[in-house]
Amino acid sequence: MTHRKPLIAGNWKMYKSVAAAVATVLELKPLVSNANHCEVLIAPPFTAIKTVADRVEGSNLFVAGQDVAAEGAEGAFTGEVGAEMLREAGCTHVIVGHSERRQFYGETDERVARKARRALDAGLIPIICIGETLAEREAGQAEAVVERQIKESTATLTAEDLIRIVAAYEPVWAIGTGRAATPEIAQAMHHNVRGVFENVFGSEAASSVRILYGGSVKPENIAEYMREPDVDGALVGGASLQPDSFSKIVFYNRD
Ligand code: PEP
Repeated sequence: MTHRKPLIAGNWKMYKSVAAAVATVLELKPLVSNANHCEVLIAPPFTAIKTVADRVEGSNLFVAGQDVAAEGAEGAFTGEVGAEMLREAGCTHVIVGHSERRQFYGETDERVARKARRALDAGLIPIICIGETLAEREAGQAEAVVERQIKESTATLTAEDLIRIVAAYEPVWAIGTGRAATPEIAQAMHHNVRGVFENVFGSEAASSVRILYGGSVKPENIAEYMREPDVDGALVGGASLQPDSFSKIVFYNRD
């Protein structure tokens, strides 16, 4: 089986001033500097990206944007930030299709697919988020919803692209609620997602792509997710804001 290096990603959402972001990252950097078993990434708000990226240069920390324009490198798109701009500011990755973007800003699978394409074309790794709502799960539609999201959100990609992207399964009912999915639920959905990738892109690409779990991940529960065969890391919101809790998640393999 292809070795998939785990990725632990922190999404800071709309938290932290530039000063607070710098303070956090300066504290985090030495705490995770010898994390060789996984990749570590943080996604600060746009305003702090450049400063944070400058401070982590040469370290093992990757920096991501939380969103990217679906349009071109530049243009009359007020409020948008292009993929090349993120690259220039020091990003290597970008989150696309986070459920908060889908829920509050009308993000569609079609737009997510265009954003993923833009990211790849600019040399960024897109972290493509998918996940069902509570109503969809209770109606027995979780698998169908996630299957549709992942197919349509990767519609612009080839098998070669798939190897470079990261997928993140984040059930909406588990985000910021303290109600984490069980490792069994996560594993079952990750397995389904990999199955969709296999059907669309072939088994080689499907076995290489990393699938993160997200939704109330904490230092106390990360190890049980990481034991599941199709869970290749985590996308962490609340618990990524503090260096102490985030570094404990990074070192999920320690007792
Ligand atoms: C997220 O925002 O991607 C997330 C998973 O948040 P939390 O860890 O706070 O549930």
